[in-house]
Amino acid sequence: MRALGFKEHGGLDRIEVLDLPELKAGEGQVKVRMRTAGLNRLDLFTLEGLPGVTVPRPHILAGDGAGVIESVGPGVTGFSPGQKVLIDPSLSDGTCEACLAGMEPYCRNYQILGEHVNGTAAEFALVPAANVQPLPPNLDFVQGGCVALVFMTAYRALMVVGELRPGEQAAIVGGGGGLNTAAIQLAKWRGARVVVATRSPAHAEKVRALGADEVLVYGPQMPLDKGLWGLSGKKGLDVVFDCNGTATVPSSSKSLARGGRLVFCGGTSGPMVSIDLRPLFWRQASLRGSTMATRKEFLEALRLLAEGKVHPVVDSTFPLERGRQALEHLDQGSPFGKVVLTIS
Ligand SMILES: [Zn+2]
Repeated sequence: MRALGFKEHGGLDRIEVLDLPELKAGEGQVKVRMRTAGLNRLDLFTLEGLPGVTVPRPHILAGDGAGVIESVGPGVTGFSPGQKVLIDPSLSDGTCEACLAGMEPYCRNYQILGEHVNGTAAEFALVPAANVQPLPPNLDFVQGGCVALVFMTAYRALMVVGELRPGEQAAIVGGGGGLNTAAIQLAKWRGARVVVATRSPAHAEKVRALGADEVLVYGPQMPLDKGLWGLSGKKGLDVVFDCNGTATVPSSSKSLARGGRLVFCGGTSGPMVSIDLRPLFWRQASLRGSTMATRKEFLEALRLLAEGKVHPVVDSTFPLERGRQALEHLDQGSPFGKVVLTIS
């Protein structure tokens, strides 16, 4: 079968269309004929190689995806061939204390499809039956194949870790990424007043259409911290969602309100930051890390998608064979929303 991945870590020149043997669904697994696979920035990091993460090679990328059940392994009930499904990319052992308490992201053996194990960018993917959900009827394969990771992650970060409440002020720093387009909609759904900060004037109208109450286009003329502070009515922001790391967290953390929470699920521009602690302790603000979501939170985010309360934002689609260009576009093309591979 054809798959998109790499044999050696490195840059985008390592990406290739692999020809790999097709496998049978094992105990508790389903085999999905993939129609789409959604790309995430994580795929670029996986390609580069993450410290402490060893992946078997050749490695198949991507954790999101949608398709049709091809076959089910022994012991699987509730799914049958021909059913349309989407994939939940989070893998936990289901047996440890954290898993039994429903806190899967705390699992000691937590893994992500396409990061630690072979992913979805292939003609077929094998996943535990617990990781497939019926594709909501209002989503097509492209939409359904790119929503799981970003919506579950933004949901947990904002609602659970960030404790965003109705009537609070939230800022989403960065407008166009898949995670940000999900976070803007979820924060609005929660009933917050939402400020979006973007460097791209081209994205300003698009984030307004997603529901942003205020848009800050920041840059040399209008620094991020000053702009956010002004748009918060000089009260500060209750929640700042900022996954950019080095480039923005030192500034965005200055705009927190008393009791404010800065939530981050990564640092796309770099992981090292230098922060002035004085405004943070004085305002009793906190920095909170978050990643992925529990199964319950994933299902809650999926329900909001199925009910049309929030919707997928797709930037572009590329056939699997042009996967390298798709990843290049994700990395350099400043997409607005998700980049999705289509698999015929
Ligand atoms: Zn566990």
